Amino acid sequence: MFLRRRPKQRTNAPPLIFGQNINGRELVLVGVFYDTTYANHLITILRHQKHIAFLRVPNSFSPFCQRFFGERIFEYILNVIHGDSRLLIRISCEPRGAIYLCHTAHVFGIGRCDFYFMIRFFVFPAHTYIVHSLLRTHKEYATIAPMSNTDVPWDVIVVGGGPAGMMAAGTAAERGAKVIIIEKNEELGKKLLITGGGRCNVTNAEFDNRKLLEKFKNDGKFLFSAFSQWSVKETLDFFHAHGMGTKIENELRAFPVSDSARSVWDVLVNNMKRHHVKLFSNAPVIGIVREKKILTGVMLANKKVIRGRSIILAAGGTSRPETGSTGDGYSWLKNIGHTIVEPTPSLVPIAMKDAWIKRLAGVKLSDIKITVFQNDKKQSAAKGKILFTHVGISGPTVLNMSKDVGELLKYGDVLLSLDLFPSQDHGALSAKLLALFTEHHNKKFRNAITNIIPAALVPVLVKLSGIDMEKQCNSITKEERLKLVSLLKGIPMHVQKLLGASKAIITSGGVVLDEVDFKTMRSRLFPNLYLVGDLLNIDRPSGGYSLQLCWTTGFVAGKSAAKK
Ligand SMILES: Cc1cc2nc3c(=O)[nH]c(=O)nc-3n(C[C@H](O)[C@H](O)[C@H](O)COP(=O)(O)OP(=O)(O)OC[C@H]3O[C@@H](n4cnc5c(N)ncnc54)[C@H](O)[C@@H]3O)c2cc1C
Repeated sequence: MFLRRRPKQRTNAPPLIFGQNINGRELVLVGVFYDTTYANHLITILRHQKHIAFLRVPNSFSPFCQRFFGERIFEYILNVIHGDSRLLIRISCEPRGAIYLCHTAHVFGIGRCDFYFMIRFFVFPAHTYIVHSLLRTHKEYATIAPMSNTDVPWDVIVVGGGPAGMMAAGTAAERGAKVIIIEKNEELGKKLLITGGGRCNVTNAEFDNRKLLEKFKNDGKFLFSAFSQWSVKETLDFFHAHGMGTKIENELRAFPVSDSARSVWDVLVNNMKRHHVKLFSNAPVIGIVREKKILTGVMLANKKVIRGRSIILAAGGTSRPETGSTGDGYSWLKNIGHTIVEPTPSLVPIAMKDAWIKRLAGVKLSDIKITVFQNDKKQSAAKGKILFTHVGISGPTVLNMSKDVGELLKYGDVLLSLDLFPSQDHGALSAKLLALFTEHHNKKFRNAITNIIPAALVPVLVKLSGIDMEKQCNSITKEERLKLVSLLKGIPMHVQKLLGASKAIITSGGVVLDEVDFKTMRSRLFPNLYLVGDLLNIDRPSGGYSLQLCWTTGFVAGKSAAKK
């Protein structure tokens, strides 16, 4: 508790420098000094002070502070801190020691903030009522929290400035919590900026939660309580209310009208700024600080500890590590007792053995069907788009089937069969080719066929079918036509492997779901820990579902963590 009795004997304690020991209430002063000389000097004086704390607060309290302290003390503070220094004062004064009044006085210039510390001193009882009246009129500057020697300067610490973390931070701050977001990169949301090929498929416009959650397969049942608080409608309303229009494309994929992920980024960052979220970038976290059964903060790579009442972990998975998502959160969670399903790349392009695929790099095909075979047995099939790359295939349909293909690869070779005309059976396609060759009877095969398939595919078809591409259409035999039909209905492609995390969209694996309370996104192991976004062991397809998961879990965690 904050209002503890002064120790009877303070052998090494220096004299209190601000104020006198007056048998009244206790006051707490937090100084943030931008000038290291003075900070060092004061830290030397204060090294025996038990309580070290930091609070960043608005600077509009100067007049109140002055009145409250009286000219003498305030002037004294001004005298002590000068030059390039800036002073932040935090006052606490009340009978039970649970209410803090915060104040910032910008005294002189602005510099880099190096030191934070707190000085305890005493105040006349008569001043208490002033504090209370200030608290009543300036509620937004008052926080209620117990004080201990592990003082908690932040209500909410968010680790990771991706979409889930930014949504959580903005939501908590909007509800009055003092929030810091810690990001290892210089810039927030590096991965967000590359989503949807830079266009950001911000959600999937399926407004029926039951249908939406079916996409998350078995994991969907865990998500109902979170999605009943914030789902697709809330996401779209949120972005619209912040001035970002959206448009719906095929398969209900929603994108910003600007076709730019930067618009989504802007909304999230501006929302955090508006609600005074403190951004701490270039600050890799290396672990969670645990004191007995309580999590009290996080430790940065420079060994500095940031303390807070609640921690929202939003450090992401392992996909595209160059964006900052290197799976750091998994090991921290493992260390404190959470169960982690081994993360593996998911929604990942597939590398193929067939050399001809290289030639098609960059070619996109729509409305195709891919059937997966193992040991000549059909395993699954999907329709959609495919993109050929230098090493294999990608695109939403391929990404969505990658997990199943990866599972099959554990048991042997996998063959993919590509049907370029899924809506026509063999007979209909044969008739279509016959009509084509009749119409273009004097043209070369390679020219005529481009009426129904992209030109880039011709050399591949010629190679696989053995038909001479210089041949005139009127000399193509029935056997050749039927062979061509079989090929167009099933180009065989042999899977080599799934590409790794460096090419994956998301991570499969993470924190097991029954260790999380989805009503609040709170860990069931630690009541002040919240887990969001890619850290969770939730499988989902491509199509905006991953970001929707971030918006939902981020919102719910932010809202819950903000509650005192
Ligand atoms: C190429 C690509 C395209 C995608 N397109 C889409 C799409 O269009 N639609 C869709 O719904 N989903 C898409 N996704 C998936 C989506 O981007 C992720 O699901 C989402 O970014 C996860 O958000 P997150 O906040 O959980 O984690 P991340 O976005 O991974 O953010 C985690 C943040 O934590 C930071 N961090 C990590 N470790 C530390 C540490 N130790 N200390 C401090 N900070 C740390 C990271 O730097 C990062 O900024 C795409 C993914 C990729 C790779």
